[in-house]
Amino acid sequence: MFLLLAVVAVVRPARAQYNVYWGDMHGHTSISDGKGSLDDYFTHARDVAKLDFVVVSDHDFGNSAPWRMPHETWTLTQDKVDQYTADGRFVAIAGYEWTSQPKYWTPEEPLFTGPPKYYNHKNVYFPSRVNYLFSAKDAAYNSPNLLAQAVLEHGGLIQNNHLDPGPGGRDQFDYDPSYSSVIVNTEMWPDTIHYQGKTHQVNGESTVREFLNRGGKTGFVASTDTHEGKPAARTAVLARELTRPAIFEALGQRRNYAVFNARILLEFKINGHWMGEEIEIQDKPRIEVEVKGTDAIREVALLRDGSPIHTLNPAAQNVRFDYVDDAFGQSSYYYLRAVQTDKDEHGNPSCAWSSPIWVKRQ
Ligand SMILES: [Zn+2]
Ligand SMILES: [Zn+2]
Repeated sequence: MFLLLAVVAVVRPARAQYNVYWGDMHGHTSISDGKGSLDDYFTHARDVAKLDFVVVSDHDFGNSAPWRMPHETWTLTQDKVDQYTADGRFVAIAGYEWTSQPKYWTPEEPLFTGPPKYYNHKNVYFPSRVNYLFSAKDAAYNSPNLLAQAVLEHGGLIQNNHLDPGPGGRDQFDYDPSYSSVIVNTEMWPDTIHYQGKTHQVNGESTVREFLNRGGKTGFVASTDTHEGKPAARTAVLARELTRPAIFEALGQRRNYAVFNARILLEFKINGHWMGEEIEIQDKPRIEVEVKGTDAIREVALLRDGSPIHTLNPAAQNVRFDYVDDAFGQSSYYYLRAVQTDKDEHGNPSCAWSSPIWVKRQ
């Protein structure tokens, strides 16, 4: 009996090593351009959305002239997350949205000289108190490289927000590749979103995939970016325990995945390694997939270097398969996407995307 259990444990290693915790990485309150107080936000996250963790991320420009978040507001945000965090029950995380805008370089709001930069927005968050907020309106932190260096020195993490597929996102990935250890994740959105009877081609997944195809490294998170004080489950983190340090440890390793709507459970491993890892192997990638939906799964796609190499249409709620990639060359990245048959009130199906695994031949 002991032997049998030991063998099973080796074949499917360490399933129980991590727990899945659900959270929202991005949302606003009346501290910037959202509705409701910090108390409303955290109370909704904990008691209504039943989240395990939540990031609050108001704009660094605050909500009134002189359009900089006051120091007391940032201090209050950090007081509140400590007040709401109860290890093992709920983790609140203090963040802000580094909001870089082309107008900062133009006569409209001439903060900086030179051609306008389209860095887009990035969420910044810290596991413990940081006195100063590194704003996109401050010359010392007005580029992703400058921001990343400061956040790295203070133990925080950064994510790329709501990718812009057009010229407006021209500079959103303009940072040194070595900073992918701090600008560690990117918000995942579907390519197509239906909203109030209209279809929007936002090309979220395509845009992050182009970055990965160019050799960029990033994990996937997702967010509501709520301005209504209604955070919801969009990111699953695989962590040892529900504490702020454990959530940050997982996010820092990209051991997280993105969902749109339903809390789909994903397991995605290559040669026993977790999503988010960079691995070297001698043989072929052995890919293990398990999807547990909340409704029937319409499609599960395994992608290598941005293209599907194995697609299933199971029409079942739970899917499990192993796949050996015989066509693996020298170096590739893989990720998993699952789409359900359900529809939200606007007609969007629920989806899930694992963070990638990067595989190199030894
Ligand atoms: Zn934004
Ligand atoms: Zn936002």
